[in-house]
Amino acid sequence: MTQEWEAGRLDSDLEGAGFDTLAVRAGQRRTPEGEHGEAMFFTSSYVFRSAADAAARFSGEVPGNVYSRYTNPTVRAFEERIAALEGAEQAVATASGMSAILATVMSLCSAGDHILVSRSVFGATVSLFEKYFKRFGVQVDYVPLADLSAWQAAFKPNTRLLFVESPSNPLSELVDIAALAELAHAKGAWLAVDNCFCTPALQRPLAMGADIVIHSATKFIDGQGRCLGGVVAGRSAQMNELVGFLRTAGPTLSPFNAWVFLKGLETLRLRMQAHCASTQALAEWLEQQPGVERVHYSGLPSHPQHELAKRQQSAFGAVLSFEVSGGKEGAWRFIDATRLISITANLGDSKTTITHPATTTHGRLSPEDRAAAGIKDNLIRIAVGLEELADLQKDLGRGLAAL
Ligand SMILES: *Cc1c(COP(=O)(O)O)cnc(C)c1O
Repeated sequence: MTQEWEAGRLDSDLEGAGFDTLAVRAGQRRTPEGEHGEAMFFTSSYVFRSAADAAARFSGEVPGNVYSRYTNPTVRAFEERIAALEGAEQAVATASGMSAILATVMSLCSAGDHILVSRSVFGATVSLFEKYFKRFGVQVDYVPLADLSAWQAAFKPNTRLLFVESPSNPLSELVDIAALAELAHAKGAWLAVDNCFCTPALQRPLAMGADIVIHSATKFIDGQGRCLGGVVAGRSAQMNELVGFLRTAGPTLSPFNAWVFLKGLETLRLRMQAHCASTQALAEWLEQQPGVERVHYSGLPSHPQHELAKRQQSAFGAVLSFEVSGGKEGAWRFIDATRLISITANLGDSKTTITHPATTTHGRLSPEDRAAAGIKDNLIRIAVGLEELADLQKDLGRGLAAL
């Protein structure tokens, strides 16, 4: 390699670049090999030039890689790309969406702190708070997502963190993120938003005042149902606390999964656009069908928070739910009559999925809690993939005919 070649430009200048450009290029730092695609670094440890170099890197005096539980270049590229897309100072990748939530609470909260959680969060998230965090002296209360006065009333002097999912699963409820962030900050608390259902392609909570954004990258960021992973984004002071926890406790992201997510991000906005267009069309169509009693989708003018959704999100997402005639038996007959759509609770995949929340994702709730959450026995959820719209409609038609 000549000196001139080595001195030449390998990486892109991304100053002022837009979302789609960042999604394709942010975070990549090319090696002297000049590879065009993102490099995969499969290595658990790194070598040093000398004993003194090793000592300097271990002490942190000289920056650089030591061990892949601490840093890995492929994982770092994914973190930097997510930070660019969420408009965050820094992002930290984790082994799964659940470990992203674990790392956030373990590094930012202590025994005696109080956390407010929106009532309709992901099932495993509730278990994590109820079964584990409470055991270590963290107090947890639940608040109906959309009700700002309920949030206001639920604060305690020791409230440190608010944790919400907006939009919610499976009813597409929203909270006004800017208003909730203001409430949190007035009380000296932080707002964390699980942005899994929207991704930064549809919603950027930090720009609305949230402090922390959390993702299960397993869903739309991968987009094809291959890998588990998670990521947290926010201010460096907080993210460095997470880095400390992850290095010590170990639920770090594998470089292979980071590479899959990097490639997923390159098509994220295009995919979300296609997912949302099909979901909107199916929601409008389902609303007209006899046998369908109600459709829950924030893209419909009939949704009570349609105006907020228009203000807060650039599109309405790929998850919709609907109530059918015939109670639980009707819902099960509908699901069993489909032939194309997968019967599985996953979402954010190119393959459309269908599920009965009352007996699967929300099956462990008591009937009272399920009723409070609005999960009726006749409710069906679909997470719309990337198949032909006409084929999805035909398959749902089989379900309708079975009612
Ligand atoms: C799936 C999911 C999680 C958990 O993510 P994993 O990657 O499965 O650990 C957390 N929050 C939401 C909203 C999810 O959909």
